[in-house]
Amino acid sequence: MIAELLSVGTELLLGEIVDTNSAFLAQDLARRGVDILWSQRVGDNLGRVTLALGQALARSDAVILCGGLGPTDDDLTREAIAAVVGETPTVDPGLERTLRDRFLSYGMREMPERNLKQAWLIPSAEALPNPQGTAPGWFVRTTLDGAPRWLIALPGPPRELRPMWLNEAVPRLKLSPAALYSKTFKTHNIGESTVAERLGSLTDGANPSVATYAKRDGVQVRVAAKADTPEAAAARAASVESRVRELLRDRVWGEDDDELAAVILEKLSAKGQTLATMESLTGGLLGDLLTSVPGASAAYEGGVVAYREHQKAAFGVPQTLLETHGSVSAEAARAMAELAATRFESDYGLATTGVAGPGGSEGKPVGEIHLAVFRRVDGADTVRSLQFPPLERNWVRERAAFAALSLLWSVLSA
Ligand code: AMP
Ligand code: MG
Repeated sequence: MIAELLSVGTELLLGEIVDTNSAFLAQDLARRGVDILWSQRVGDNLGRVTLALGQALARSDAVILCGGLGPTDDDLTREAIAAVVGETPTVDPGLERTLRDRFLSYGMREMPERNLKQAWLIPSAEALPNPQGTAPGWFVRTTLDGAPRWLIALPGPPRELRPMWLNEAVPRLKLSPAALYSKTFKTHNIGESTVAERLGSLTDGANPSVATYAKRDGVQVRVAAKADTPEAAAARAASVESRVRELLRDRVWGEDDDELAAVILEKLSAKGQTLATMESLTGGLLGDLLTSVPGASAAYEGGVVAYREHQKAAFGVPQTLLETHGSVSAEAARAMAELAATRFESDYGLATTGVAGPGGSEGKPVGEIHLAVFRRVDGADTVRSLQFPPLERNWVRERAAFAALSLLWSVLSA
């Protein structure tokens, strides 16, 4: 089945609210094996909603509309559906009773007459109950040139739309069983184009499909396959999945829902080891990523943000080192990692320093980053210096935090 999404509302076009309903519906439909080839947003204008709906109906089996079911003059979804299927809305006595009772239960003596259009139906529509609000949805069965078509109108508010979709609309669609299988590989220390080079023609396939995504914690590669059952979908993906796994083996740190900080803390606590941090340009982002993992205290001792140079010195970075190399230097990062480990008495110390911008400092360019890991048991250190593109300040800081975790992961996995 091919489904199309049509979100109605001028506020969506203006960017005043984000179309989260489309994201929710698209993800849910994909999981059910339904293809989405088009997704539209259109303002509160009867001519344009009708036009968009007509186009959608011509090329998609099911059109799922959201929004425009309110009581006001700019809520026009019902009018547009009626126009496209060529039927005239009338007030449904059963819906009207439910609606008036709903207003009584809200403690209002009378229902505003404008709300009466929420009790409208057309002959080919079935009302979808909305226990969360006043607007029932519409489930319309129609045909185009003899082929069956479904039009589903859902209310805009996400807390009304979601249960109506899951409990009322999906069961009526009687989807043939289909299952989507997916496996995501999470990589680091490799750019998206290098990943694409390694994957070669594997990304050309449709089922299974292989796609790459650049994320803040590295490039992700997703292998997905569709079939009638979960088992058949997994089987369909299997050989491509193992080829991708093989091609990226040296760069993969996790899969699916894995988070880099969580994977690191798990590795540490499995060995009964601990970590401490000393941060400069990341200003606590590392500590934030680590402490957002439930149970972080099993392996994370704590950290310090020493932002100004004299505070680095106060925490123990030798003044002579700072004078010779500057606080944005590989030497400073190394000293900070060692201090974190010794002062917090942890097995590992992890440190970040660099220039977040805008504008360079100490004659250093924006995006110059130095990261270090110190291992207390043998005094081994690993330092990595990077030059990020001079992009926006918080992009640089966030990327530096993930690069630091990535460095630690490499050390722990060596
Ligand atoms: P409507 O049914 O068009 O009157 O929309 C009612 C409210 O639902 C809007 O004010 C938004 O807060 C929310 N809403 C409408 N459409 C969407 C959408 N596509 N995604 C998320 N929220 C929406
Ligand atoms: Mg609206």
